[in-house]
Amino acid sequence: MAKQKEVSFLVVGGGIGGLTAALGIAETGRSVHVLEKARQFGEVGAGLQLGPNTTAILDRFGLMDEISKYAVFPKRLVLKDAITGEELSDLDLGSAFLEKYKHPYIVMHRADLHKVLFDACEVNPNITLLSNQKVKKVEDLGEKARVTLEDGTGYLAEAVIGADGLWSKTREMFSNDQPVCSRYVAYRGTVPMDEIVERGGTDVDDVLMWIGPYLHLVQYPVRSGKLYNQVIVFKSFRYKEGSDDWGTPDEIEEHFGECCEAVRHAVFSYISGQRRWPMYDRNPMENWSSGRVTLLGDAAHPMLQYLAQGGCQAIEDAAYLTNMLHKHGNNIEQAFLSYKQERFPRSSRVQLTARLWGEIIHANDNISILLRNELLKNRNSDDYSYVDWLYAKRY
Ligand SMILES: Cc1cc2nc3c(=O)[nH]c(=O)nc-3n(C[C@H](O)[C@H](O)[C@H](O)COP(=O)(O)OP(=O)(O)OC[C@H]3O[C@@H](n4cnc5c(N)ncnc54)[C@H](O)[C@@H]3O)c2cc1C
Repeated sequence: MAKQKEVSFLVVGGGIGGLTAALGIAETGRSVHVLEKARQFGEVGAGLQLGPNTTAILDRFGLMDEISKYAVFPKRLVLKDAITGEELSDLDLGSAFLEKYKHPYIVMHRADLHKVLFDACEVNPNITLLSNQKVKKVEDLGEKARVTLEDGTGYLAEAVIGADGLWSKTREMFSNDQPVCSRYVAYRGTVPMDEIVERGGTDVDDVLMWIGPYLHLVQYPVRSGKLYNQVIVFKSFRYKEGSDDWGTPDEIEEHFGECCEAVRHAVFSYISGQRRWPMYDRNPMENWSSGRVTLLGDAAHPMLQYLAQGGCQAIEDAAYLTNMLHKHGNNIEQAFLSYKQERFPRSSRVQLTARLWGEIIHANDNISILLRNELLKNRNSDDYSYVDWLYAKRY
């Protein structure tokens, strides 16, 4: 066997979760290596919404000044009916929200958030960032943990955190479960804001979610308001297990053809069918820590994006893991166990609620739609009771 490199802490995966975890581990005075399979660290995709449960953590890690250079602070979260165009409900993100949660709701390009995290890691003497490192296997050896790369390179670490996303290799140490396909797909993209404004775009300071039968469209500004992020999501009725030939661009017309003018305009003018994102989550899995190996973010609890919380939960994981490493000192097993015990109930609640919220927003029979819309229309903008369990959490 090739020689094994001895390291202290090792994070598998340099996404939002892995990089935040590295910052937290470094804060506890330990050295940490981050292994990323891609040739370069970076993020694909478009926008990200981050609630105050997360901006509080980014603030704690001293990142909010830098993040504020790229983020947009939307005024409202607005739900609209994609078919009639009617506004159904909104959540005030202004002064009442700030007074209650003390930290803002922000939207930003995910590449910008990733860059802020990456830059903070790069200048941290406790953090080593290594790209082109495709992890094949992770093993708990008792006093140590071993990570083996596809090219045969081995690392012997004091502890390993698997932050390697939905298709996590680290998770295979705990379970042979598989991602659950929702049969929904997303297409997303960004457009220069000037173009949107020139064409009469309004409400560009808000996060808009247009909901309809088996579909939705989300729109919000990113990159300090210079770009407009748009994501469409719909359920494919041509799903075939093990095939990519479903949820293809030709189905977009079938789904969105009946929508109101504003939605059709956004979908048919700006959404490119170039990249298809099938939507997966997994069932909650409780045993995600064993000895000196644990999971974090999508590797531990991948969720559907309907509550805009997958990245937020990864950042919450990183913050609480940091707290437990501070608290338990050299007892890494106990730190990992305490971390999992706190994080499992909360993250699995978010996972399951995201599925339920998906069913509500994608309701397709007239009675469900009528009831949902009446319920939504009857709440006040500054009624935070539905979201309090998500946004009030502080680590
Ligand atoms: C359409 C859509 C919209 C979303 N909107 C939001 C939102 O508004 N707000 C929000 O909070 N969340 C949102 N999410 C969810 C969010 O994107 C994810 O939850 C988040 O990116 C998870 O971060 P992570 O670091 O755990 O995993 P990932 O971002 O998947 O990062 C994993 C990293 O590990 C690397 N990796 C994978 N395998 C290996 C390996 N074998 N060896 C080494 N490296 C490896 C990958 O290359 C990657 O860099 C959305 C998701 C989708 C699909």
